[in-house]
Amino acid sequence: MKVLEKGPGWSMEQVCTGKGNGGCGCGAKLLIERGDIYLTHSYDYGGGHDVYYTFCCPECGVETDVDTSKLPSLVLNEAQDKKTNRSRSRGRSK
Ligand SMILES: [Zn+2]
Repeated sequence: MKVLEKGPGWSMEQVCTGKGNGGCGCGAKLLIERGDIYLTHSYDYGGGHDVYYTFCCPECGVETDVDTSKLPSLVLNEAQDKKTNRSRSRGRSK
């Protein structure tokens, strides 16, 4: 299949905070675009499973979780389709 014309772009500003990933982001202001968001998975010992929508800061390499309520369904679906989903075990530190 060929894409004749791409759909509307999407972008939003996010600050690198490291939220959900230790919180040691560098504070850079970033323009997140489609394709920058990917899923990370968290499994706990009780068999629980959480999914996070995450971007990785190009400045410091720290990952920050994005509030899913701020993401359009287009981006959510695209992230779910990606083959590059990462699996990661995170401690639950709520
Ligand atoms: Zn950063």
